[in-house]
Amino acid sequence: MNKPLILVVEDDPPVRNLITTTLKAHGYRYITAHNGNDALLEASTHNPDILLLDLGLYDIDGMEVIGKVRSWSEMPIIVISARSEDRDKIDALDAGADDYLTKPFSVEELLARIRVSQRRLNSSGNQSSGTVFVNGELKIDYAAGCAYIRGEELHLTPIEYKLLCLLSKNIGKVLTHTYITQKIWGSTWEKDVASLRVFMATLRKKLERAEGSTQFIQTHIGIGYRMIKVE
Ligand code: CA
Repeated sequence: MNKPLILVVEDDPPVRNLITTTLKAHGYRYITAHNGNDALLEASTHNPDILLLDLGLYDIDGMEVIGKVRSWSEMPIIVISARSEDRDKIDALDAGADDYLTKPFSVEELLARIRVSQRRLNSSGNQSSGTVFVNGELKIDYAAGCAYIRGEELHLTPIEYKLLCLLSKNIGKVLTHTYITQKIWGSTWEKDVASLRVFMATLRKKLERAEGSTQFIQTHIGIGYRMIKVE
Protein backbone atom coordinates (compact mmCIF):
# COMPACT_ATOMS: atom_id res chain seq x y z
CA MET A 1 0.00 0.00 0.00
CA ASN A 2 1.19 3.52 -0.79
CA LYS A 3 2.42 5.60 2.10
CA PRO A 4 0.01 8.49 2.63
CA LEU A 5 0.77 11.96 1.33
CA ILE A 6 1.22 14.37 4.23
CA LEU A 7 0.86 18.13 3.99
CA VAL A 8 3.16 19.83 6.51
CA VAL A 9 2.11 23.38 7.39
CA GLU A 10 4.71 25.07 9.58
CA ASP A 11 6.25 28.54 9.41
CA ASP A 12 9.17 27.79 11.71
CA PRO A 13 12.05 26.38 9.55
CA PRO A 14 13.76 24.26 12.26
CA VAL A 15 10.47 22.59 13.23
CA ARG A 16 9.54 22.12 9.58
CA ASN A 17 12.93 20.53 8.91
CA LEU A 18 12.58 18.20 11.86
CA ILE A 19 9.18 17.06 10.59
CA THR A 20 10.16 16.61 6.94
CA THR A 21 13.44 14.85 7.82
CA THR A 22 11.49 12.44 10.03
CA LEU A 23 8.86 11.81 7.36
CA LYS A 24 11.52 11.24 4.71
CA ALA A 25 13.47 8.84 6.94
CA HIS A 26 10.31 6.77 7.42
CA GLY A 27 9.35 6.65 3.77
CA TYR A 28 6.41 9.07 3.91
CA ARG A 29 5.55 11.31 1.00
CA TYR A 30 5.07 14.94 1.92
CA ILE A 31 4.53 18.47 0.65
CA THR A 32 5.04 21.65 2.66
CA ALA A 33 3.39 25.04 3.11
CA HIS A 34 4.78 27.97 5.09
CA ASN A 35 1.58 29.89 5.79
CA GLY A 36 -2.18 29.48 5.96
CA ASN A 37 -3.02 30.63 2.44
CA ASP A 38 -0.44 28.27 0.91
CA ALA A 39 -1.80 25.53 3.16
CA LEU A 40 -5.31 25.96 1.71
CA LEU A 41 -3.93 26.07 -1.82
CA GLU A 42 -1.80 22.94 -1.37
CA ALA A 43 -4.61 21.12 0.42
CA SER A 44 -7.08 21.78 -2.38
CA THR A 45 -4.55 21.09 -5.17
CA HIS A 46 -3.04 17.85 -3.84
CA ASN A 47 -5.80 16.56 -1.58
CA PRO A 48 -3.31 15.06 0.92
CA ASP A 49 -4.21 12.11 3.15
CA ILE A 50 -3.11 13.80 6.38
CA LEU A 51 -2.69 17.45 7.33
CA LEU A 52 -0.08 18.42 9.95
CA LEU A 53 -1.00 21.96 10.88
CA ASP A 54 0.83 24.53 12.99
CA LEU A 55 -1.80 26.70 14.69
CA GLY A 56 0.32 29.84 15.02
CA LEU A 57 0.73 31.07 11.43
CA TYR A 58 1.47 34.66 10.54
CA ASP A 59 -1.12 35.21 7.80
CA ILE A 60 -4.36 33.45 8.69
CA ASP A 61 -5.08 31.60 11.90
CA GLY A 62 -4.70 27.83 11.95
CA MET A 63 -8.26 27.64 13.27
CA GLU A 64 -9.52 29.25 10.08
CA VAL A 65 -7.54 26.74 8.00
CA ILE A 66 -9.26 23.88 9.87
CA GLY A 67 -12.69 25.40 9.25
CA LYS A 68 -12.06 25.87 5.54
CA VAL A 69 -10.54 22.41 5.00
CA ARG A 70 -13.45 20.84 6.91
CA SER A 71 -15.94 22.54 4.60
CA TRP A 72 -14.87 20.15 1.82
CA SER A 73 -12.69 17.37 3.28
CA GLU A 74 -12.64 14.81 6.10
CA MET A 75 -8.85 14.36 5.88
CA PRO A 76 -7.28 13.71 9.32
CA ILE A 77 -5.91 16.96 10.76
CA ILE A 78 -3.18 16.85 13.42
CA VAL A 79 -2.68 20.22 15.01
CA ILE A 80 0.80 21.30 16.11
CA SER A 81 0.74 23.97 18.77
CA ALA A 82 3.47 25.80 20.61
CA ARG A 83 0.88 27.14 22.98
CA SER A 84 0.71 24.83 25.91
CA GLU A 85 -2.73 26.01 26.95
CA ASP A 86 -5.37 23.36 26.59
CA ARG A 87 -7.85 25.96 25.34
CA ASP A 88 -6.19 26.18 21.89
CA LYS A 89 -6.14 22.43 21.48
CA ILE A 90 -9.77 22.19 22.57
CA ASP A 91 -10.83 24.93 20.14
CA ALA A 92 -8.93 23.20 17.31
CA LEU A 93 -10.52 19.82 18.12
CA ASP A 94 -13.97 21.41 18.30
CA ALA A 95 -13.30 23.10 14.95
CA GLY A 96 -12.75 19.65 13.43
CA ALA A 97 -9.12 18.66 14.10
CA ASP A 98 -8.53 14.98 14.96
CA ASP A 99 -5.50 15.13 17.18
CA TYR A 100 -2.79 17.43 18.51
CA LEU A 101 0.92 17.62 19.22
CA THR A 102 2.41 20.15 21.63
CA LYS A 103 5.79 21.71 20.85
CA PRO A 104 8.38 20.60 21.68
CA PHE A 105 7.48 17.06 20.63
CA SER A 106 9.61 14.01 20.01
CA VAL A 107 10.02 12.26 16.68
CA GLU A 108 8.41 9.15 18.23
CA GLU A 109 5.36 11.16 19.26
CA LEU A 110 5.01 12.59 15.77
CA LEU A 111 5.23 9.15 14.16
CA ALA A 112 2.76 7.69 16.67
CA ARG A 113 0.16 10.39 15.89
CA ILE A 114 0.61 9.81 12.17
CA ARG A 115 0.09 6.07 12.62
CA VAL A 116 -3.16 6.72 14.54
CA SER A 117 -4.40 8.91 11.68
CA GLN A 118 -3.36 6.29 9.13
CA ARG A 119 -5.42 3.68 10.97
CA ARG A 120 -8.40 6.02 10.88
CA LEU A 121 -7.87 6.47 7.14
CA ASN A 122 -7.71 2.72 6.61
CA SER A 123 -10.72 1.94 8.77
CA SER A 124 -13.04 4.60 7.39
CA GLY A 125 -15.16 3.23 4.62
CA ASN A 126 -15.21 -0.42 5.59
CA GLN A 127 -16.78 -0.62 9.03
CA SER A 128 -18.02 2.87 9.79
CA SER A 129 -20.76 2.69 7.17
CA GLY A 130 -22.23 -0.63 8.33
CA THR A 131 -24.52 -1.40 11.22
CA VAL A 132 -21.93 -3.55 12.99
CA PHE A 133 -18.76 -2.03 14.40
CA VAL A 134 -15.75 -4.19 15.22
CA ASN A 135 -12.58 -3.06 16.99
CA GLY A 136 -10.48 -5.97 18.24
CA GLU A 137 -12.58 -7.88 20.77
CA LEU A 138 -15.20 -5.15 20.93
CA LYS A 139 -18.28 -5.47 18.76
CA ILE A 140 -21.21 -3.08 18.61
CA ASP A 141 -24.39 -3.99 16.81
CA TYR A 142 -25.88 -0.53 16.22
CA ALA A 143 -29.11 -1.92 14.80
CA ALA A 144 -29.74 -4.16 17.81
CA GLY A 145 -28.38 -1.59 20.28
CA CYS A 146 -26.01 -4.10 21.87
CA ALA A 147 -22.29 -4.21 22.57
CA TYR A 148 -20.14 -7.28 23.10
CA ILE A 149 -16.66 -8.12 24.35
CA ARG A 150 -15.38 -11.50 23.12
CA GLY A 151 -18.94 -12.35 22.15
CA GLU A 152 -20.25 -11.68 25.64
CA GLU A 153 -22.90 -8.98 25.89
CA LEU A 154 -21.98 -5.91 27.92
CA HIS A 155 -24.57 -4.62 30.35
CA LEU A 156 -24.45 -0.90 29.73
CA THR A 157 -26.73 1.86 30.93
CA PRO A 158 -28.33 3.93 28.14
CA ILE A 159 -25.82 6.76 28.68
CA GLU A 160 -22.82 4.42 28.70
CA TYR A 161 -24.07 2.88 25.46
CA LYS A 162 -24.53 6.31 23.88
CA LEU A 163 -20.99 7.25 24.92
CA LEU A 164 -19.59 4.04 23.49
CA CYS A 165 -21.38 4.62 20.16
CA LEU A 166 -20.20 8.22 19.98
CA LEU A 167 -16.57 7.20 20.59
CA SER A 168 -16.75 4.27 18.16
CA LYS A 169 -18.25 6.39 15.39
CA ASN A 170 -15.32 8.80 15.83
CA ILE A 171 -12.63 6.16 16.30
CA GLY A 172 -9.09 7.58 16.26
CA LYS A 173 -10.32 11.09 16.92
CA VAL A 174 -9.94 12.99 20.20
CA LEU A 175 -13.39 14.19 21.29
CA THR A 176 -13.49 17.13 23.69
CA HIS A 177 -15.57 17.22 26.88
CA THR A 178 -17.69 19.97 25.32
CA TYR A 179 -18.34 17.96 22.17
CA ILE A 180 -19.29 14.83 24.11
CA THR A 181 -21.57 16.52 26.66
CA GLN A 182 -23.29 18.40 23.85
CA LYS A 183 -23.95 15.15 21.99
CA ILE A 184 -25.04 13.18 25.06
CA TRP A 185 -26.88 15.73 27.17
CA GLY A 186 -27.34 18.60 24.72
CA SER A 187 -25.53 20.93 27.07
CA THR A 188 -22.05 21.89 28.22
CA TRP A 189 -22.62 22.58 31.87
CA GLU A 190 -19.80 22.05 34.33
CA LYS A 191 -21.85 19.44 36.17
CA ASP A 192 -22.23 17.45 32.94
CA VAL A 193 -18.47 17.38 32.44
CA ALA A 194 -18.20 16.06 36.00
CA SER A 195 -20.80 13.35 35.36
CA LEU A 196 -19.14 12.53 32.04
CA ARG A 197 -16.01 11.62 34.00
CA VAL A 198 -18.06 9.26 36.19
CA PHE A 199 -19.89 7.61 33.27
CA MET A 200 -16.63 7.22 31.37
CA ALA A 201 -14.98 5.55 34.36
CA THR A 202 -17.74 2.96 34.67
CA LEU A 203 -17.83 2.38 30.91
CA ARG A 204 -14.09 1.79 30.87
CA LYS A 205 -14.36 -0.59 33.80
CA LYS A 206 -16.93 -2.67 31.91
CA LEU A 207 -14.91 -2.62 28.68
CA GLU A 208 -11.54 -3.25 30.20
CA ARG A 209 -12.44 -5.29 33.27
CA ALA A 210 -10.44 -8.40 32.40
CA GLU A 211 -6.87 -8.69 33.57
CA GLY A 212 -4.50 -7.57 30.82
CA SER A 213 -7.38 -6.69 28.51
CA THR A 214 -7.08 -4.22 25.68
CA GLN A 215 -7.34 -0.52 26.33
CA PHE A 216 -10.05 0.92 24.10
CA ILE A 217 -10.47 4.41 25.51
CA GLN A 218 -7.68 6.89 25.96
CA THR A 219 -8.05 9.78 28.42
CA HIS A 220 -6.65 13.18 27.45
CA ILE A 221 -6.53 15.01 30.76
CA GLY A 222 -8.25 18.38 30.64
CA ILE A 223 -9.26 17.81 27.01
CA GLY A 224 -11.36 14.72 26.35
CA TYR A 225 -11.37 11.08 25.23
CA ARG A 226 -10.59 8.96 22.22
CA MET A 227 -11.33 5.39 21.18
CA ILE A 228 -8.15 3.74 19.96
CA LYS A 229 -8.16 1.53 16.91
CA VAL A 230 -6.86 -1.81 18.17
CA GLU A 231 -4.26 -3.49 15.94
CA1 CA B 1 4.26 28.97 14.04
